[in-house]
Amino acid sequence: MKKLLSSLLLVLSFTSLGQSQVTTTLEMSDVFKTVDMLGEKYGQQNTLVVFDIDDTLLVIEHCQRPDGSWTRGIGKLFHCPSEHTEDILANELRRIQESGYSTIALTARGASLIKPTKRELARRHFRKKTLIFKGKPHLKEFNSVSVPRTRRCKADEIPPCLKGEDSDKPKFLEGVMYANGTHKGLALKRLLEELGDTYSAIVFIDDRKKNTDDVHEVYKNQGSVEVHNFLYLRHRD
Ligand SMILES: [Mg+2]
Repeated sequence: MKKLLSSLLLVLSFTSLGQSQVTTTLEMSDVFKTVDMLGEKYGQQNTLVVFDIDDTLLVIEHCQRPDGSWTRGIGKLFHCPSEHTEDILANELRRIQESGYSTIALTARGASLIKPTKRELARRHFRKKTLIFKGKPHLKEFNSVSVPRTRRCKADEIPPCLKGEDSDKPKFLEGVMYANGTHKGLALKRLLEELGDTYSAIVFIDDRKKNTDDVHEVYKNQGSVEVHNFLYLRHRD
């Protein structure tokens, strides 16, 4: 009954005007429950699910060189095998893709990491399904998406604070946006404008508070879309 009441309150707290909120979780199952709720409310084809990659979909737990030393920093992403963050992830992702939801990945990674990113998303981790975004659904690809560059805000400014110039480095290939370190809220917004797609609901999952805050900032006053941001901390130390 308590559960029923809290989900009722959650539904009631959103109006048709649309809103954005941030929820902290350690469980991917919370994310998929919300995805299902929004799919029922707006239709699966009107719901977009956006996953960060590092420590959200994939995590590198063990990576030792043959000499026994540990690989650290960004080098890990090139050379080390990764694992799925949770056992249920691949099946749940495939399930929502087959139900008609739109799914993309949005990573801060840049062009130099495209090859290892493709390799790790497409790798069979033991007997699990692969994490594929290409054609889920079929979306255009862009070798360059221009995203406004941001700067640190002054005390009296409301973020995001813009530099007044764009970065043309971000790319969107095979359903993966390589944001190249740009502001994820602005990157997502610009990508959707380029694609010409509008959604009634967006679910965004990321392990960094800066990113969930950035997406929240951009979408909190966008009347037409209901946005659920999940700060996923299962693999944060
Ligand atoms: Mg991450």
